[in-house]
Amino acid sequence: MTMGTQTDFLIIGAGIVGLATARELRTRHPESKIVILEKEDVPGRHASGRNSGVLHSGIFYAEDSLKAKVCSQGGKELKEYCFNNHLSIQKIGKVIVPTQENTDSILQMIYERGKKNGIPVNLIDQKELKGIEPDAESKTGKALHLPEVCIVEGVEVVSHLAGELVQKGVEIYYNEPFLSVDLKKKMVKSKQERISYGYLFNAAGVYADKVAHFFGVGEQYSILPFKGLYYSVLPDSGLRVNGLIYALPNLKFPFLGIHFTKRLNGEIAAGPTVVPALGRENYWGFRGIHPFDTFRIFYSLFNLYLANHQNFRAFVWNEGFRFIKKRFYEGAKSLVPSLRMEHLVKNSKVGIRAQLVNLKTMELVNDFLIEKGENSTHVLNAVSPAFTSSFAFSKLVLDQAGI
Ligand SMILES: Cc1cc2nc3c(=O)[nH]c(=O)nc-3n(C[C@H](O)[C@H](O)[C@H](O)COP(=O)(O)OP(=O)(O)OC[C@H]3O[C@@H](n4cnc5c(N)ncnc54)[C@H](O)[C@@H]3O)c2cc1C
Repeated sequence: MTMGTQTDFLIIGAGIVGLATARELRTRHPESKIVILEKEDVPGRHASGRNSGVLHSGIFYAEDSLKAKVCSQGGKELKEYCFNNHLSIQKIGKVIVPTQENTDSILQMIYERGKKNGIPVNLIDQKELKGIEPDAESKTGKALHLPEVCIVEGVEVVSHLAGELVQKGVEIYYNEPFLSVDLKKKMVKSKQERISYGYLFNAAGVYADKVAHFFGVGEQYSILPFKGLYYSVLPDSGLRVNGLIYALPNLKFPFLGIHFTKRLNGEIAAGPTVVPALGRENYWGFRGIHPFDTFRIFYSLFNLYLANHQNFRAFVWNEGFRFIKKRFYEGAKSLVPSLRMEHLVKNSKVGIRAQLVNLKTMELVNDFLIEKGENSTHVLNAVSPAFTSSFAFSKLVLDQAGI
């Protein structure tokens, strides 16, 4: 056990949010000591290294939301970062297609919102859609095209960022899970370390609620893990996917649902699902399950179902069973009707969304949520598009902390 490490800033979690926070701290406080505690042996082992890698435009988010505030700017900064550092990035564009009839007014509203916010977006008809994505189909005959949308490789971005931070003097302690805190002494205990901090940032992803509770912060919130499974489309399917094909989402929910992506390696992927996971790190089968936590998850799901805010019951029946291949196929086919079930093979990529639930109102928290504690700030809901937004989001986190 090492005794008595002291640091000005301590960050829990080396996902994109923790790393971006360290980057911004280094810019604002060049002389400070910054330590990141990470429980895994590499950065980005969880959501940041297991996502779709889409730099979202921010078009879906309500104007008064934090997501709207930082997504578009964050996307621009991350794009620039990837170009400047020669990281993999490709401009592939995105189409958004209605999969239900009578949704043109929502499409129009999103289009106008995008225009107002300066997002490059075109309202297109079926013929134009076919010119961009020949196999995609719109239920209403209209669609949106966002030609500037890019994809990146999450793991590559996070690894590069971590390396750069280390070069700039940030210390990352791997295999060091945060275990507890002495609030009076401002001292954190991890597996091997005791670290005194001046100010702490909690960016622990799917464990952010648990860490926050040690600080008496966010007691009314709990994280529900939702599993994102992907399928690959067989190359000999003949299916034509040139960029990203997304469905027009239900804006009441924080999820964008199944989409088609042409990956940087040319592979076509479909996914991810939004099915409840049995544990915070339950990527496969029964792995990553802890009985008490599984009980907590079911209890929360049951209460969300009873309360039925945001039309949760319909969400469960529509999306909750997409782990069954036939149900996944039905969802994917609504975007690309020529898809056949035999075109789909399970992809090894699985991600888990750290979705926050407000236990008082029994609602899924739609926006990013940052809460302050004593000498600490807690990022409680860093759901999508937190990857895209991370550089701009970290500025907001520090501004809110007054640092
Ligand atoms: C399937 C899927 C697809 C997505 N697609 C996109 C997309 O296309 N575009 C986009 O912008 N966003 C997307 N997202 C969302 C995005 O990936 C996340 O919002 C983002 O990665 C969150 O970053 P984070 O740093 O908060 O979490 P994480 O990356 O999970 O990092 C948290 C870190 O904290 C560590 N940690 C946890 N507990 C402790 C502890 N006690 N002690 C020390 N360390 C700890 C973990 O090991 C982890 O490294 C997607 C998410 C999923 C799951």
